[in-house]
Amino acid sequence: MRDHVDAVVVGAGVAGLTCALQLARRGRRIVLLEAAAEPARAGAAWVNGVERTLFADLALGRPPEGVVVDEAPAFTMQSPGGHRVRCAPVPTVGVDMRALQAWILARARAAGADVRYGVRALGPELVGTRVTGVHVDDAAGARTVAAPLVVDAAGLAAPVRDALPTQLFREPFWDETAQGPWVGDADLCLAHQEVRRIADTPRARRWLVESGLLEGETLSYAGIAGGYSICNVHVDLAHGTAGFLSGSKLDAPKSARRLILDLIERLGFLGERVFGGGRKLPLRRAFDLLVGDGWALLGDAGSQMFPSHGSGVATGMIAASLLADVADRALTQGDVSRAALWPYAVRWHRGRGAVCAANDVLRRLTETLGPEDVDALVRDGLLGEAELAQSLACAPAALDPTSLALRAPQLLRRLPWLVRRFLPVVTRAALVQRHYERFPTRWDAAGLDAWSRRTSALFAPERMRMAA
Ligand SMILES: Cc1cc2nc3c(=O)[nH]c(=O)nc-3n(C[C@H](O)[C@H](O)[C@H](O)COP(=O)(O)OP(=O)(O)OC[C@H]3O[C@@H](n4cnc5c(N)ncnc54)[C@H](O)[C@@H]3O)c2cc1C
Repeated sequence: MRDHVDAVVVGAGVAGLTCALQLARRGRRIVLLEAAAEPARAGAAWVNGVERTLFADLALGRPPEGVVVDEAPAFTMQSPGGHRVRCAPVPTVGVDMRALQAWILARARAAGADVRYGVRALGPELVGTRVTGVHVDDAAGARTVAAPLVVDAAGLAAPVRDALPTQLFREPFWDETAQGPWVGDADLCLAHQEVRRIADTPRARRWLVESGLLEGETLSYAGIAGGYSICNVHVDLAHGTAGFLSGSKLDAPKSARRLILDLIERLGFLGERVFGGGRKLPLRRAFDLLVGDGWALLGDAGSQMFPSHGSGVATGMIAASLLADVADRALTQGDVSRAALWPYAVRWHRGRGAVCAANDVLRRLTETLGPEDVDALVRDGLLGEAELAQSLACAPAALDPTSLALRAPQLLRRLPWLVRRFLPVVTRAALVQRHYERFPTRWDAAGLDAWSRRTSALFAPERMRMAA
């Protein structure tokens, strides 16, 4: 049996759901296919931070109670040696992803989207160079869901992207001959989040006082298992719970989950686990080629991520809204070729994508930092409140060459090595941002190739090595 719809979206995580909602709202016939058997098993099942203004920015209205679960009054980052930087107010709120996804799912269904759970996408149906549908497997057996547009929003699994032949999808990046995997271990991290009951409230209260924290303030231990690693704790006495969030590279001495378990043991006032989970996340800048004839990549599948803290919720939702807008126009014109879908890539790469790509340059540097480097960053004000706030808000880096130059005399005297390492990197981040803002406005193989070559040059690993 073949279904005939305007678009098939694969993956009912936050990105796929938002895309289905935004397309259905425009009157499009949408099928959203999800491998998990039920909504509770799909997408993310933990608390994620997103910008305070996100829902208003995407015209989604006010989320119902239970979606925003944490409005921390302050965020304090602590280096391994105990140096601190504090940011207040915090530009983000904590969102219970289970509630957020349930809300978007209900709205997508109400808008007419046909959302099916327990359906695994196996790969794209191809006619020549065009994707014309998705091969699926479900309780009814193997079949094809046909549509002029297929959106791969299936997270890291990316079953459509990964089954495309290399003449349709390749990443002209690092190595011209690369055949994948498109996200290697160096560009992955493990993240874990969980909420625990507070078993000993007086002790939790004492810990807050001794740590110099307000109730509800997040404390982030940075650099505890390599330069990229963090472990955050957020004690909420009013609700009798504490939230933990951690992240570390795959080769870190401790996994993200272990970081949380160790901290829980050290704090000594936590009880049973309420909910949570974790998995691998892509950290690399988004793929150059986000669209092709009849297909588009979205969310983690497109590596649309703010790399420094592995934040893909707001980026995925923003990208979903851009894609729905462009796809709706393309479907109206009866042309879903790469050229017709190109404005999605342009709007992504020139906007949020430019900020994420520039941040990827900084992410690669943070991975090389040792504990004493992280101490120096915080102690000497290179990572100050403004930088912390901008990073949390996924905003362009405040560590621009001008602000660095202003601080240079003081820093040079005390930390010449740090400046030698940072100046080239922040300069490169600024160049990357400007380069992305000039992403080719029209699809043209030669134009993209030239742009990608320049990108490769800016990201070349040998240039990223620190000058000792
Ligand atoms: C512990 C943790 C903490 C995080 N904290 C933050 C944070 O604070 N802020 C932030 O912005 N981001 C955070 N992130 C990242 C964020 O959760 C992800 O970037 C985001 O949820 C990705 O959404 P997505 O829809 O692109 O993909 P996913 O959530 O991965 O959804 C993809 C869906 O596709 C389905 N699927 C896979 N294969 C198939 C197939 N073959 N057929 C059909 N369906 C398929 C999957 O079952 C899944 O439901 C965190 C991640 C983790 C793990």
